Amino acid sequence: MRLLEERILKDGLVMEGDVLKVDGFLNHQMDVQLFQAMAEEWKRLFAGCEINKILTIEASGIGIACIAGLSFGCPVVFAKKTKTRNIAGDVYRTQVKSYTHNNISEVIVSKKYLGADDRLLLIDDFLANGAALSGLLDLADMAGARVIGAGIAIEKAYQPGGKLLRERGLRIESLARISAMDDSGRIEFIS
Ligand code: 5GP
Repeated sequence: MRLLEERILKDGLVMEGDVLKVDGFLNHQMDVQLFQAMAEEWKRLFAGCEINKILTIEASGIGIACIAGLSFGCPVVFAKKTKTRNIAGDVYRTQVKSYTHNNISEVIVSKKYLGADDRLLLIDDFLANGAALSGLLDLADMAGARVIGAGIAIEKAYQPGGKLLRERGLRIESLARISAMDDSGRIEFIS
């Protein structure tokens, strides 16, 4: 998606550890007009798929997912990161390794909000090694929900997550796919 690529080139910063900083428009200050354009693009790509729920993961997927929820006209659920082992109530739980913090979090979703009638679109800001999306797939699997596909804002396509998950049969629609980047500021896209 041209608009997102141009914004990454204008405002993205390549940091140490293969991290692209986009907190001026994506995951700290949020350009919700850009999110709206992204949501409309996913809506076009997943037209006719009868998505009835969006599932994302705390924290940076939430804003994007909410705007997508408006376009799709469906509820948005986010997997919560929790440090408490004995959380009250009935939940699905799995573990996710964080790319940016390099720790493992337990993530949960209440059994009330995910079930066999759900046709899910997974949403997240980045796809790198695929841990966050795999965690969401685990939760969906536990709930017996059907995953229609995943909408990703920025895929670092030179990292393994996209290939691994597509090989597992997941449809992934990434709006900007980075083929290479380095700390000289060079960022290249797969068109
Ligand atoms: P994965 O689980 O696919 O390895 O990484 C995806 C998650 O890590 C996303 O939820 C995102 O928050 C974070 N992440 C991965 N790569 C980057 C990056 O280059 N920049 C930022 N800001 N977050 C990233």
